[in-house]
Amino acid sequence: MTSTFVRKCPLCGKPRSPEHSPFCSTRCKDRDLLRWLQDGYALPGPPALDEEEGKA
Ligand SMILES: [Zn+2]
Repeated sequence: MTSTFVRKCPLCGKPRSPEHSPFCSTRCKDRDLLRWLQDGYALPGPPALDEEEGKA
């Protein structure tokens, strides 16, 4: 069996990076951590917008 199946980042759905597994980047990694932290405070999660960053 060939393992060409691309696993996706659980947060944004992009192909994950082996360096940041199981996420695609440190950004998603940090975001997941923040979600855990915020969950303790029962705060509503902000919408995850990745693509428009830097335009401001
Ligand atoms: Zn991601």
